[in-house]
Amino acid sequence: MREHSDIIIVGGGPVGATLALALADSPWQVQVLEARADLSRAAYRRTLALSYGSRLILERLGIWSGLQDVTPIKDIHVSQRGTLGVSRIRANEEGLPALGYVVDYAELDSVLHEALRATAVEVSAGSRVTAIAHNTGYARIELEQAGVKRQLTTRLAVVADGGGNGAERVTREYGQHALLASVTTELPNQGCAYERFTADGPVALLPQGDGFALVWTATPERVAELLAMPDDEFLQALYAHFGDRVGRFLTVAGRSSFPLILRYAKKLVTAHQVMIGNAAQTLHPVAGQGFNLGLRDAWELAEMVRDCGRETLGSLDMLKRYQASRRVDTSASIFFTDLLVRLFSNAHPVLQHGRSLGLMALQLLPPAKHMVARRMIFGARG
Ligand SMILES: Cc1cc2nc3c(=O)[nH]c(=O)nc-3n(C[C@H](O)[C@H](O)[C@H](O)COP(=O)(O)OP(=O)(O)OC[C@H]3O[C@@H](n4cnc5c(N)ncnc54)[C@H](O)[C@@H]3O)c2cc1C
Repeated sequence: MREHSDIIIVGGGPVGATLALALADSPWQVQVLEARADLSRAAYRRTLALSYGSRLILERLGIWSGLQDVTPIKDIHVSQRGTLGVSRIRANEEGLPALGYVVDYAELDSVLHEALRATAVEVSAGSRVTAIAHNTGYARIELEQAGVKRQLTTRLAVVADGGGNGAERVTREYGQHALLASVTTELPNQGCAYERFTADGPVALLPQGDGFALVWTATPERVAELLAMPDDEFLQALYAHFGDRVGRFLTVAGRSSFPLILRYAKKLVTAHQVMIGNAAQTLHPVAGQGFNLGLRDAWELAEMVRDCGRETLGSLDMLKRYQASRRVDTSASIFFTDLLVRLFSNAHPVLQHGRSLGLMALQLLPPAKHMVARRMIFGARG
């Protein structure tokens, strides 16, 4: 393990590993510190909805073709339970082969690390960072590796640990939990993703392989009940809640849950330190924006760092420029996601009617629909 590196990335999850790969051909010595001892085991079992814009980033890094388990999303069907309004966003109307893709977190993680092994980037597994302090001209990183404490220094510490512990942050609890599972259905998925808003919160079905990845939002009590149900009872409850757009639900596997929050750092940067990905912001999964935003963080930081001089690397000026460059995309993603949750997760009759009209209007006004689609696919700069 090098005592000093130009750039140290704390956390080798998909966002940290993407940044490392994007910097692999830069003039900088890059080191990744990853808490997991075994890099072949991903930190989470999770399904990710990648936007088409994220595919372009992964293609430029040369890893897109290495992913096997990829299901294209050709259409997105948005509806509200109990009303008529429906909006349908179609890839062919946007002139794209797909609006996005459903991929497996573990596979993406493993393909990124495989690609990193062929570069000069040093990845230190089993290295848990415990503190980062600032000195004039560099950051000092404290870590534990196999029970041994160590200290490293760097011009730029990039925190991509998924949590960004220690930073001052804004947190909003939605009072909802998300239940995740894989389901199969009577009708084939045909590459269609469903987003259905209900008074309890949104339910999403993302096409994955022959079935769907389910994200069912509800109160913590209801999610606990749903987790405890026998399979057949759960499948009936899902059918009653979601309706029959995909026919009956046939099988369910891998039920798990997590609490939904919006959390973001008040300040992304201090001298010689910056936060990206989930460490910078954790979003409600309603529109599948979180990971895509994190990838754009990594990409933009790499672009800025690649071309800067040695004296500029890690300086507060440089990092403030990075922070300013991310402000519009980040704020817009937080606002868009939060608005969707607040606007749609209640049974107020006036709002319900308004939402139904809104979905119909979106369907009838192609320019408005196109704008929403571009926003979801490419971020605020789409
Ligand atoms: C259940 C769930 C479902 C989601 N579904 C979607 C979705 O459908 N679409 C979407 O776009 N986004 C989704 N997200 C969000 C998405 O998972 C995150 O945006 C993504 O994982 C962020 O990647 P990351 O690399 O920033 O962080 P993480 O994936 O959390 O990776 C962080 C890495 O840092 C390492 N680490 C942690 N602490 C330390 C430390 N102290 N020292 C060293 N290393 C450390 C961890 O081992 C891990 O490898 C979901 C999130 C959750 C919780």
